Amino acid sequence: MNIECSMCGGKVPVPEDVIKGEVVSCTDCGLDYEIQNTDNGNVTLKTAEEVKEDWGE
Ligand SMILES: [Zn+2]
Repeated sequence: MNIECSMCGGKVPVPEDVIKGEVVSCTDCGLDYEIQNTDNGNVTLKTAEEVKEDWGE
């Protein structure tokens, strides 16, 4: 499947058997995303910058 890049609107290819924590990259701008969730086939991505913000929790 492909998910729309929040940065440039391009395609981020995501394997159907992707697992949480895996890293995928936008084919257009190269931005790296980490798989945040794969609940019910509904894949959620977060950017590397958002990962860093998890410190305070
Ligand atoms: Zn992009």
